[in-house]
Amino acid sequence: MKSLPFVDLEAQYVRLRANINQRIQAVLDHGQYILGPEVAELESRLAEFTGARHAIAVSSGTDALLVPLMALGVGPGDAVFVPSFTFTATAEVPLLLGASPVFVDVEEDTFNLDPRHLQVQIERVAAAGRLRPRAIIGVDLFGLPADWDTLEEIANNQDLFLIDDAAQSLGAAIGDRRIGTRAAVTATSFFPAKPLGGYGDGGALFTDDDDLAAVYRSIRAHGQGEDRYEIVRIGINGRLDSLQAAVLLAKLDVFEDELASRQRLAEHYQRRLGVALTTPSQPQDRRCSWAQFTVQVPGRDQVRAELAAAGIPTAVYYPKPMHLQTAYAAFGDGPGSCPVSEALAGRVLSLPMHPYLSVEDADRVADALLAAIGAHAEAERG
Ligand SMILES: *Cc1c(COP(=O)(O)O)cnc(C)c1O
Repeated sequence: MKSLPFVDLEAQYVRLRANINQRIQAVLDHGQYILGPEVAELESRLAEFTGARHAIAVSSGTDALLVPLMALGVGPGDAVFVPSFTFTATAEVPLLLGASPVFVDVEEDTFNLDPRHLQVQIERVAAAGRLRPRAIIGVDLFGLPADWDTLEEIANNQDLFLIDDAAQSLGAAIGDRRIGTRAAVTATSFFPAKPLGGYGDGGALFTDDDDLAAVYRSIRAHGQGEDRYEIVRIGINGRLDSLQAAVLLAKLDVFEDELASRQRLAEHYQRRLGVALTTPSQPQDRRCSWAQFTVQVPGRDQVRAELAAAGIPTAVYYPKPMHLQTAYAAFGDGPGSCPVSEALAGRVLSLPMHPYLSVEDADRVADALLAAIGAHAEAERG
């Protein structure tokens, strides 16, 4: 049988072809490839979409995390608290500035920062006195918003700057508040496989703070001041291309509809798989953007191999927590220090998840997964 795609960008292109082509042609016609009118249009549409006062388009999700840390003046001697169970970029950005990531464990059911362990780590760092606690980067992993009320309370009590790594959660919400307004600054990514993805790298920052927004715009463009050749702070080349903005504008037209399709698919998976294995939890008041649908299965690698043989692609996000990565291990406390992250790394399995997956194909995924789990349980029993 034909193998299913894990993310079907082709089906999306077929749907949006006319609009995407027209948008790209417009850029080729006006020729303003850098910070052209599409970038400004995208920023205002994204601000409207999230409810944030400012949206600032940047060159990647990683730069969207880096820019606010630069603006904060984070550097050597500073501690930035990050979850260990996340994508590399979250842990990488403090290190790029000479600051130290401090790894925090996650909750088993939401995959997001565990506020109790966060509190423990902040107190530990403060008591040791070697590093100055400066910022928390919370991640909305797989599209599920973290517990932002509690994180905000901790950040306020400890005088820490709060950053939402929303690379996977654009379109998610807590109550009727969209992600983009829950932390001092929110960073998202337009990497092609993210819920809103371009045809290359891209990202955006969201904030309600006028002064911070102005600083972020300046850092994005080499730290320029009022005049382009007046450099008032250290910055980067962190701009989003007009061509990417053009593609994203075409995709934004159908984004709400795509989020609804992802939600329906998640509910279908939930119905089919919920009794047999651990499916993602969905706290009452939180709406997920379903960047991934990640189940937890014993014997994951064997189950995964059987699915691959049945033409079902899966992914493992993430096979190794950050505190055990070769490049970051010196900043962690070794095996056993983030036990939930370590356990999750061994049993998470992300299933095909995109707005163009048919019910028939979703059933094919569910049937194959249930069969593989049954076979594994049988083998375990001997
Ligand atoms: C994808 C991702 C990033 C980085 O985004 P890029 O656009 O690839 O730089 C950061 N954090 C998380 C959680 C991500 O999933």
